[in-house]
Amino acid sequence: MRHFHYKDGEMYAEDVALRDIAAKVGTPVYVYSTATFQRHFTVFANAFKDRTTLIAYSVKANSNLAVLATLAKLGAGADVVSQGELVRALTAGIPASKIVFSGVGKTEPEMRAALEAGIRVFNVESLPELERLSDVALSMGTRAPVAFRVNPDVSAGGHEKISTGKAENKFGIAWSSVQSAYARAAALKGIEIVGVDMHIGSQIDSLAPFEVAIEKVGALISDLRKKGHTITSFDIGGGLGIPYGDNSKTPPPPSEYGALVKKLTADMDVELIFEPGRMIAGNSGVLLSEVVYAKSGEDREFLIIDAAMNDLIRPALYEAYHEIEPVRAPGRNFKTQRYDVVGPICESGDTFTKRRELPQMAAGDLLVLHSTGAYGAAQSSQYNTRPLVPEVLVSGDRFAVVRERPKLEEILRAESIPDWV
Ligand SMILES: *Cc1c(COP(=O)(O)O)cnc(C)c1O
Repeated sequence: MRHFHYKDGEMYAEDVALRDIAAKVGTPVYVYSTATFQRHFTVFANAFKDRTTLIAYSVKANSNLAVLATLAKLGAGADVVSQGELVRALTAGIPASKIVFSGVGKTEPEMRAALEAGIRVFNVESLPELERLSDVALSMGTRAPVAFRVNPDVSAGGHEKISTGKAENKFGIAWSSVQSAYARAAALKGIEIVGVDMHIGSQIDSLAPFEVAIEKVGALISDLRKKGHTITSFDIGGGLGIPYGDNSKTPPPPSEYGALVKKLTADMDVELIFEPGRMIAGNSGVLLSEVVYAKSGEDREFLIIDAAMNDLIRPALYEAYHEIEPVRAPGRNFKTQRYDVVGPICESGDTFTKRRELPQMAAGDLLVLHSTGAYGAAQSSQYNTRPLVPEVLVSGDRFAVVRERPKLEEILRAESIPDWV
């Protein structure tokens, strides 16, 4: 369910015409719907409302402060992977007690900042990280709450670049080393063991890999307790997929996911932690862009739009599919055309789709790329010195620019030419 729809022949985000946003802010621009964020978070939370649960929204999916503040108001925690994301989450009003820290390469300053803030738990991914964390905590006269991210060696995720739970991936503690890792943690003065963590992939479109992994980790939790470790939380990670509007498999709804997880964990006596990102943010945003040129090639038609791979890298990076629609609703008996929709960057990878049948469009027409609320703006760059794409948040009939488009002077100001050049 998303709140981007046609009304009186025009596409709206909630009660705001996208054409108005384009006129005031310019294109390309990401447009987010508050109601959609709220709905997705609530649907997920409701799936677990009879269990003690922390929903730690994965900040990397969409880290805009206004988005984080919107989710904070609903009771969301945060899963952060850097000091920058930690500061964002705290600034947006997410309490430290609801923040979990993930990632394979946490540095000493990051550990220090998270300990100072008093976060809920560090999801530790290696023994060297554990040793360093213990040292940092001891130097601050405290102990670090820790869960090991274990790697249950299951295959999941819609693309090899977003599969994380296989033995070959860089993530987590190898399954055969988990027991010795907990034993080592129990011996370290700066560490307090609190739980177990996993995250097996992203855009997962079936429940089967979750089922396999949760059962495996459930047995592990029993084992660890028998060895005397205190396990109070089980972090199941994120990864639940969303519909992208193509014909690939439709992921299970959060209610089915919730029912399965509750069933599998009913007797585990653990607090559940989740780290959903895409499921909350993906369909809460669109990338709004204008057609610069319609161009005829040798054997195909191109729509060259003013958004590019620096604004949205998912098609180039993961061969991702994004539904494309014109902002002006196609009239009755409209004509269609097969288009390659491309950006202006000098790389063939700057292609959003190939030979997609769309309503005929011309220069000056506005269009949207749907389902770009997650891993869209968050992965954008200034490649080709294209200013970082701005972000707009809509709520009802209001909208606000929540990240401005930088001016060229601002981009250049961060650089300098040494006097010896
Ligand atoms: C990326 C990530 C998530 C979120 O994944 P989604 O597929 O967006 O739900 C959760 N946890 C960790 C550790 C991650 O790296």
